[in-house]
Amino acid sequence: MTLLERLGGRQAITAGVVDTFRTLSRHPHPSGQEEAAGRDYMAYLRDMGLNPVRDGAGNVLAEVPPSPGREGEPVLVLQGHMDMVCAVAPGSGFDPSAHPVTIVERKGYLCTDRRSSLGADNNLGNATALWVLKQGVSHGPLRLLFTVREEVGLEGAKEVSPAWLAGASALLNTDGFHLGRAIVGSAGGRREEWQKHLEWAPAPAGQGWRISLTGGTGGHSGDDIHLGRANPIVLLAQWLAERPQLAVASFTGGTAFNAIPSWAESVVVWNGTPETGALQDALGAFAATDPHLTLALTPADRPELVWTPTCRAELLSFVSGLRHGVFVMDPVFPQVVGASANVGVAGADGDTYTVKVFLRAARQAHMEELSALHQASADQTGFTGQWTGYPGWPGESSNPLAQQLDRVYQAQTGRGLEITAVHVGLEPSVLREKAPGLVMASTGPDILDAHSVDERAPLDTLADYALLLAGLLEAGIS
Ligand SMILES: [Zn+2]
Repeated sequence: MTLLERLGGRQAITAGVVDTFRTLSRHPHPSGQEEAAGRDYMAYLRDMGLNPVRDGAGNVLAEVPPSPGREGEPVLVLQGHMDMVCAVAPGSGFDPSAHPVTIVERKGYLCTDRRSSLGADNNLGNATALWVLKQGVSHGPLRLLFTVREEVGLEGAKEVSPAWLAGASALLNTDGFHLGRAIVGSAGGRREEWQKHLEWAPAPAGQGWRISLTGGTGGHSGDDIHLGRANPIVLLAQWLAERPQLAVASFTGGTAFNAIPSWAESVVVWNGTPETGALQDALGAFAATDPHLTLALTPADRPELVWTPTCRAELLSFVSGLRHGVFVMDPVFPQVVGASANVGVAGADGDTYTVKVFLRAARQAHMEELSALHQASADQTGFTGQWTGYPGWPGESSNPLAQQLDRVYQAQTGRGLEITAVHVGLEPSVLREKAPGLVMASTGPDILDAHSVDERAPLDTLADYALLLAGLLEAGIS
């Protein structure tokens, strides 16, 4: 009997995975509110005859004893996160804390009623792993690890005790999004917050003007950083830096560390009408990526105070000199960004000016190079910094877990797996520090438009992901 036959055929597999997904999604589980969902995981694991434990953070671990005769094999951890980004359709009345997602099967997809996102990221990967195990597939020593608060900075993974990973040889994360792909590396993140004390002087004679850039495309600071989109904060700062005659009273832009800014604006004082032709010309370079990016110059109330010339020069020199966009491509996976910077937010709160930057890099040397550049320009311009972050997961194409997955997939489908890295953060980044030497990879079922109300998973590929997991368990990892 083939593995497919033993699992009951494609239809039964799909139905079983969807049914398990529904069980795990019965309660709301946005990040930080995984309590009830965690109890559903615990109940499911107990139902399988296991003795799951939960740590203070809410993470869940269960040991799965090996099948008879496989006791001596290396330990594999199957891992995923229990929380979700619960996107909500405006005006739908959906409350992510109170309402479970409505799960629908429509036109070949597992999706929602479009009032909220689905949470297939990552409950669908977890559901597949649990359903496969429940079918009695043969396996070596296993641990199941389910984490909380992944979507808000890998916070649950940070709390995982090293003891939970001790003795394991490999970890397969199920948060991979694309069937047919194995991820073996991901970016570390560093949130930099740079601050400077503002020095003020009376505004010179002249008229107040507001210069704004709005309607930039923006986007995700990891997924979209290689697309060459405009950064209005940097563009406006560069233009202002070259025009010291314009006295600056304010300069603001962007909304989040990890979002490419779509806007920036400044209020200046000048005895005449500022000539913005060069800034308009600079926008021309972004006609393809940012077709709606618009420059506007409008009269503003004349401010009483402006930044002193020295403060102005230092501040604009710092902001316009920050790295933005791709810093380097990855040396092992040259099609993947290796390190990048996003100048996400700039603005004053009283006399304190703050610039928020998000750096990403899979390899520590790149992260250090990039942050040293920022530190050097901060030192020259009177900015001081603080940062938080998580480490990178530098990928190797020779990753033995990915190679084994590739052999299993090849045998099942006749096609190889794409072995690659991603320029966003995945939990192995954090787990790797707790268990040096642990071999890790990430795979997952196809999930489209995650973190949006259009999040969906094609039903006809769920069986393939289940077969890949089952095939790996049967083949073992040694
Ligand atoms: Zn995820």
